[in-house]
Amino acid sequence: MNDFADTGMPPCPGRCNRDRVDGDQIPGSPVWCRACQQAIHVALQELVDLYAALWGVGQRAVRAGEKVTTSRGTRTPAVSPGADQADEILRTTCAWEDALRTHLSHPAAAVGTDHTGAGRALTSAVDYLGRRHTAAMSTPFATDYGHEILALAAGTRRLLRADRGTSRLSAPCPQCDLRALEREGGTDTVRCRVCRWFTTWDRYDAWAGTFLNSAA
Ligand SMILES: [Zn+2]
Ligand SMILES: [Zn+2]
Repeated sequence: MNDFADTGMPPCPGRCNRDRVDGDQIPGSPVWCRACQQAIHVALQELVDLYAALWGVGQRAVRAGEKVTTSRGTRTPAVSPGADQADEILRTTCAWEDALRTHLSHPAAAVGTDHTGAGRALTSAVDYLGRRHTAAMSTPFATDYGHEILALAAGTRRLLRADRGTSRLSAPCPQCDLRALEREGGTDTVRCRVCRWFTTWDRYDAWAGTFLNSAA
């Protein structure tokens, strides 16, 4: 049976059908086609490593809800995009584990998602979902589940790529005095990751040349 065989199933909602015209669509088996099911399985397994990699991105800012106290008062620091995305991976994956457990009448997951249990909760959620991939792919929520897992992995890969393109700069920020300036990957913007002051690369370059020469 080739992928186009008329199985009476609705077309796969995956990217396999994105550029195809009606009547020439790859059917689901029963929801996603086999290639897309495989892609979802790979993305699911990948979430564990992506989650770990995000904590490198998280180092350049502080967690939401924390306060920074300085001689000029207390403020909320910038939220880290890495920590936000890591939370999103954990919450989404554990929520799908819960949904599948309910659907299959399995007992609730034993691992909590508190601070110390987060890594283990994610690993065991991915393990649970991965082992029951065929079952998960034929649930009534298979379409949403697949889309969310694919989007999480793709969004995280994008975020990590963007972070790798960011270069830290040596001159301190003219507004907060911290060595926290960075140039965002592929852009002409220089931004302070602490106070969010920003300028263009040309203006930074001219100013930093003067500053670094006078400091020498
Ligand atoms: Zn497909
Ligand atoms: Zn600053």
